[in-house]
Amino acid sequence: MRLINNMSTIAEYPSSERRSNRVVKIAVIGGSGVGKTALVVRFLTKRFIGDYERNAGNLYSREVQLDGEQVAIQVQDTPGVELNVNGLSYTDHVTSSIQWADAVVMVYSVTDHRSFDLIGQLHRLVSCNHADRSTLPPIILLANKADLLHVRRVDVQQGPLLASALGCSFYEVSASEDSQVHGAFHRLCRELAEHRPSCVLSPHPAATA
Ligand code: GDP
Repeated sequence: MRLINNMSTIAEYPSSERRSNRVVKIAVIGGSGVGKTALVVRFLTKRFIGDYERNAGNLYSREVQLDGEQVAIQVQDTPGVELNVNGLSYTDHVTSSIQWADAVVMVYSVTDHRSFDLIGQLHRLVSCNHADRSTLPPIILLANKADLLHVRRVDVQQGPLLASALGCSFYEVSASEDSQVHGAFHRLCRELAEHRPSCVLSPHPAATA
């Protein structure tokens, strides 16, 4: 076992030591190049994407201990969504990932105002596609690349204001400097547990086989 962060209660385990019978499914969505993959890699491996070789698929998983419970966190990275004259442009993989997920991470880059501008429509996409349409899944909004102060294009106040209007938690993060990434994902897992207290997490497929 290796502690990811001494201040947190998440610890990670190699997949060969799989012990959990619960799984948390998280979809990460946002524009192209905002750092979705870098954030997933940072959260699950503690490394920056520059050190990381992409796998063939987009599903990443890691066994962790979350507030005393052993869980498998599965994170679905998705292709970038674009905003063009016809509205939002996205692949089926984005919608199927939203339908699959228990919780959603929406990401924009503070260096790219267009990536911020599409967050409202991304939120609507989640509302329309989530499996349980009677209630939204827990959603967190991340403003990534906070380390790139000299090329910032989205003001610091804009993210929290938008998150508050959408009813989401908000974190300004940096995948490259490992700032706030772990805390943000941890918060989302907690919100999921509060959101669905009676069936906090989906059963792990291996446990039901
Ligand atoms: P994706 O298309 O949203 O998955 O974006 P990637 O994860 O592939 O990242 C796009 C580029 O931004 C890559 O060159 C990353 O190295 C870089 N990047 C991602 N996150 C950060 C960050 O927090 N800070 C900086 N400086 N660069 C980042």
